[in-house]
Amino acid sequence: MAVEAVNIVVVHGGAGAWPRDRWPEATAGVAAAARAAFALVAGGGSALDAAVAAVVILEDDPRYNAGTGSVPTANGHLEFDAAVMDGASGRAGAVAAATGIRNPVRLARAVFDDGRHILLAANGATAFAHAAGIEQSTAGHVEPTDQSLKAPTQDTVGAVVCVGGKLAAATSTGGTHGKLQGRVGDAPLIGAGTWADANCAVSATGTGERLIEAAAAHEVAARVRLTSASLQEAVEAVVSGIQGNAGLIAVDLAGRVATACNTDAMPRAIATGDGVKAATGRDEPLRAIL
Ligand code: ASP
Repeated sequence: MAVEAVNIVVVHGGAGAWPRDRWPEATAGVAAAARAAFALVAGGGSALDAAVAAVVILEDDPRYNAGTGSVPTANGHLEFDAAVMDGASGRAGAVAAATGIRNPVRLARAVFDDGRHILLAANGATAFAHAAGIEQSTAGHVEPTDQSLKAPTQDTVGAVVCVGGKLAAATSTGGTHGKLQGRVGDAPLIGAGTWADANCAVSATGTGERLIEAAAAHEVAARVRLTSASLQEAVEAVVSGIQGNAGLIAVDLAGRVATACNTDAMPRAIATGDGVKAATGRDEPLRAIL
């Protein structure tokens, strides 16, 4: 069946405890990321380029729990998880418990481009970042007094992109607030927090331990491939099966989008040639963002 080539960028800013008065800024942030990533696509960028670009913007935005805005570990360190996956090639790159870098998703992309391995962790990931010339960050430790500045939300950022029927996903997070040093969540585990194949791309957010056990992102793809479920039905079924916070965004090769969360809020934005639509509250309809 011929599939019309569609270009679309879908972004999330994490399912969690977003206070209602922060919904407008959370919506604006994901809308800006989706818009910039779509501009890259319009300029000839690949689905993977666009997914990484959207996530970089959100990692640089201190309002989200990824990169610069990451929540600290119990002993005050910042440890980042991130992954990218390219659906056309089925290849992935990821980093876990990485430290001292500004954009963990760029490091995941560098692991992908290097191609020898899929997942680098902790000191090894940091050493690889230095060797690859990935920009470092001085933010590595947060004093206990500073931790109160960050609400104990559990959010993550992610993007799924379809460019002419080719798909990619990227996810990045500081993990769960107060996590033990060395804890790795779902985001960098291929099939748990991040997945892309020839049919769909998925990025997850929520309680990482439960998302890992559910192989959440891959489970969406499996349900679409192996059952009669639509993408939206698959996303909703997986979210409703998670005993914890959960949110998913997904796009398929025809540019169909699915999103769902079981929290009150998950900032999300969709950019197409027709513009950008975004919302944060779970039941808030997407609205056009100028
Ligand atoms: N999934 C992330 C993790 O467990 C956190 C989140 O999305 O809220 O590391």
